Amino acid sequence: MKQLLRNVKIILVFFLILSVATLAGLVVQQRRSETHFRAVAGENKQILRERYRQAGKIIAADGVILADSSSGERAYAADPQVALAMLHIVGDYTHNITNTIESQLQGPLLGNRSDLLKQLNLDVRGLGYRGDDVHLTISSSLSSRAYQLMGGQKGAVVLLNYRTGDVIAAVSSPSTLPANVISWVNIPDGSLFNRALNGRFIPGSTFKIITTSAWLGSAAYDAALHVDCEGHVPVIESGAFENYAAAAHGRVDLTAAFCNSCNIFYGQVGMDVGAASLEAEAAAFGFGRTLGLPYLTATASRIQVTRDDLPLLSWAAVGQPAGDTVETMSPLHLAMIAGAVANDGRMMVPHVVGSLTDPLGERYGEREVRTLLNVPARTWPTLKQLMTAAVQNGTGTAAQVAGHTIGGKTGTMETRNEAGETEIYTLFTGFDATPGYPYAVAVILENKGYSGAQIAGDLLARTAKIGP
Ligand SMILES: [Zn+2]
Repeated sequence: MKQLLRNVKIILVFFLILSVATLAGLVVQQRRSETHFRAVAGENKQILRERYRQAGKIIAADGVILADSSSGERAYAADPQVALAMLHIVGDYTHNITNTIESQLQGPLLGNRSDLLKQLNLDVRGLGYRGDDVHLTISSSLSSRAYQLMGGQKGAVVLLNYRTGDVIAAVSSPSTLPANVISWVNIPDGSLFNRALNGRFIPGSTFKIITTSAWLGSAAYDAALHVDCEGHVPVIESGAFENYAAAAHGRVDLTAAFCNSCNIFYGQVGMDVGAASLEAEAAAFGFGRTLGLPYLTATASRIQVTRDDLPLLSWAAVGQPAGDTVETMSPLHLAMIAGAVANDGRMMVPHVVGSLTDPLGERYGEREVRTLLNVPARTWPTLKQLMTAAVQNGTGTAAQVAGHTIGGKTGTMETRNEAGETEIYTLFTGFDATPGYPYAVAVILENKGYSGAQIAGDLLARTAKIGP
């Protein structure tokens, strides 16, 4: 026995030495590769700086210059708040942020042309080295306003035209100035990540739009369904209940359940329609597929509902995945969902680039207005009514705009941060259904402290002033 213990000790010590050695080796390797990376990045930075000396402009839809090389040096938006709000779309010439206009449209911005005749024409006129300009669909003033409204909270705001798919704002916070990205200083944690296009957020109660649609189109639909909500009493043991003990909605039908976002009612509906039906309906609204955004990458939304587990199913139906269930979506997609409901079921391909112009002012690459998909025709008129009711006299009243018909759905979502503390996210997606004002909005804040509906209402009121 003693001999055995001795051997075990020896083996343990051996493994300890081995793991320390491995760790030390890893640290050395990492340092070496970091040094190598810095050297390569430093070289590239100089080369890129030279290359961008005659690059084309990046211009917002409201005419504000977001990137410009006319002084011989690449410069970004003069207004710091515009620069902060546009950072994740515009990017920087060192390409420290990828998936931006500066990096993905580097070719046209630097004037790399495959059309030799055009190139010859420009050369003759002495314009051969100049790059082409990129015209965005995004408004600098509305982006700046969205960033200001977020008040330094983490999150994202997307505003779009649901008839054309033109993205008017796609703002991600925290952010930092382009100069900081270039010199790699003052970069707050997570500030280079584009939450608006690439965030994977849990939908919370905004998912009830999908659950409603699944139910309306299923054999399980029962117009007379009423559910008694006592708040803290779950719909089924371990199943969905109200997040706030005070929220007991009493006896609710579909309209009351949607307007007040009743988890008990929707937990029951989810169990009635089943996992496959929830997944199929989410797919019909664009989950699990590309959103078709040209030039930039937008992350696809995901859904996978655990089979044969009623409690998990009831949570999935209210947009709070538990167990092995997966439900994530991007703010861009969330805005597109509300937009499709308002746009007679047509979800449009989103755009951030409107067109390009060459140094002679000739326009090309104009964006094409295209339908991405049609959400179920049997359900969108009812969804439009329910969302309008939720803003008129439900949880979304903060999104109201005087003289306009606004619809929407609120959401909250409980999650745990890295420190294991509970965090509450607030979400809102909505639309303006007033003829001539085809705007949809999504707001996700990683903080319960501010109303997503209020930010949405402020932005929709501003688009209402700008007009169609
Ligand atoms: Zn309830």
